[in-house]
Amino acid sequence: MSKAAQINWSDPHLINADLHCHSTTSDGTLTPEELAERAAANGVQVWSLTDHDEVGGLARASKAAAEHGMIFIPGVEISVTWSAVTLHIVGLNVDYVNSPLENGLVSVRNGRTERAMEMSRQLEKVGIDGVYEGALKFVGNPNLISRTHFARCLVERGVCKDIREVFERFLTPGKPGYVPHEWASLKQAVQWILDSNGQAVIAHPGRYDLNPMQMDELVTQFVKLGGEGIEVVTGSHTTDQYATYARKSVRSGLKASRGSDFHGPTESRVNLGELPRLPDGCVPIWDNWGKLFS
Ligand code: AMP
Ligand code: MN
Ligand code: MN
Ligand code: MN
Repeated sequence: MSKAAQINWSDPHLINADLHCHSTTSDGTLTPEELAERAAANGVQVWSLTDHDEVGGLARASKAAAEHGMIFIPGVEISVTWSAVTLHIVGLNVDYVNSPLENGLVSVRNGRTERAMEMSRQLEKVGIDGVYEGALKFVGNPNLISRTHFARCLVERGVCKDIREVFERFLTPGKPGYVPHEWASLKQAVQWILDSNGQAVIAHPGRYDLNPMQMDELVTQFVKLGGEGIEVVTGSHTTDQYATYARKSVRSGLKASRGSDFHGPTESRVNLGELPRLPDGCVPIWDNWGKLFS
């Protein structure tokens, strides 16, 4: 019997699900195959790859997951502009071949190259030249250049000691190298996911610069649009935030998700699959997935 077939779905809280990470198809440093191997070695049973604005790594990830006996959930992390703030919406269980999602993402990716060139021009003004070309050396997918690739370039050049410092000094609002960008709308992102038979999840809510009223408004709008989940246990949250967003999940009726947001062995605080369980009282987003796989 395969490991996937041995999963006991009767107590979903005990299942090791990691539903958020990145490969070289976006801004991760491991290939889909390397991620699958690492996830399996760390005991992940239900695994999703959620590259930024891109589904190009999912077929490879799916094949590799099957070889390791893991259940694979095709995923994506869509960049969204809402109320002048950048948000990330994760799609899980999405159809990704010739789907409304795949088509919608083309427009989200298209702006990235232009934005990257402008970021490079801004950095030139503060005396740092040729960062666009430098960042391209770190890019695994030419359609998907991100701030992370710029950060890796500036660390390699010795401008900053690590990626965190790059984001603190550059690349964030108000700092040189930050270029505002209009991503998908919340409505578009949720609709692409729903039209592709997936489930929409608010990624790492604790990271957004929103006051409590704005956060409530986001959750209300998201629920109205058909959103289904919210990340509670993520590599981007503190332990206190696990509790905060567990309460928000229960109160809003959004199911809880769990994912490391792993980007690479040397860059991520939390390893694939090595997260605490969801707090009691939350309904895991994978609660009723057993019937999909039995
Ligand atoms: P982009 O989609 O090009 O705007 O890049 C966003 C990515 O940058 C995120 O998914 C993270 O991987 C990375 N990032 C954003 N803020 C930080 C930060 N403060 N420290 C490290 N990485 C960050
Ligand atoms: Mn990222
Ligand atoms: Mn994110
Ligand atoms: Mn992410």
